[in-house]
Amino acid sequence: MTKQSYAVIGLGRFGTSIISKLYEAGQEVMGIDINNELVDDVKSSVTHAVVLDSTDEESLKSVGIRNFDYVIVAIGNDMQASILTVMLLKEIGVKQVIAKAINKRHGQLLEKVGADWVIHPERDMGERVAHQLLSPNVLNYIELSKEYNIEEIIIPPSMKKKSLRELDLRAKYNVNAIAILNNENLIISPSPDQIIQNGDKVVVIGHREDINEFANIK
Ligand code: ATP
Repeated sequence: MTKQSYAVIGLGRFGTSIISKLYEAGQEVMGIDINNELVDDVKSSVTHAVVLDSTDEESLKSVGIRNFDYVIVAIGNDMQASILTVMLLKEIGVKQVIAKAINKRHGQLLEKVGADWVIHPERDMGERVAHQLLSPNVLNYIELSKEYNIEEIIIPPSMKKKSLRELDLRAKYNVNAIAILNNENLIISPSPDQIIQNGDKVVVIGHREDINEFANIK
């Protein structure tokens, strides 16, 4: 994996969980917070940890914030600080600014000041939980648009020991299998002769309603 540089501003639960995943993956990560105790706590799991107020333009410039590939603004409750920080980062010329919103209005304002990607963690997680409850066979999914998804689905018992050709998912369910997960092995673009084993998972792309129908086969 190519090494990228990330700065995470705000070391609450959201910011620190992003930091630990990125650092574990060998990436260059700077942790930033106004609170020096939080900065101390994170020191062992980042490349650099800095105490600064991200609403102060000079402080941001002093750590070379413009040179980071991604800057993640993980400030929540202080909406004003979050919006001002995103605005300054874009003015300084940071290419990719990712920001967390605590509500819809906050999200809209973050987009207005130039955030490249706005995340709504509580809303999105709530939606995922509901999706999982409605379709227990779906392990993971990505929304490509309002209508189309990619979903990872547990193969229904009736389909095991059959080849993809026999299953003919495209004709029968209007979904396309783009990968098969067999234990830890990921088979990308599986051949039509690929036999489905017990416990396999299939990654399909298609219309949400079609995938939903497929995911609920017994
Ligand atoms: P989480 O849900 O991720 O735990 P939260 O949504 O409750 O966090 P806050 O605690 O409000 O969010 O903010 C996250 C962090 O951002 C805090 O540790 C806070 O000190 C830091 N922070 C707030 N304002 C600034 C600022 N101006 N500069 C740097 N850090 C800041």
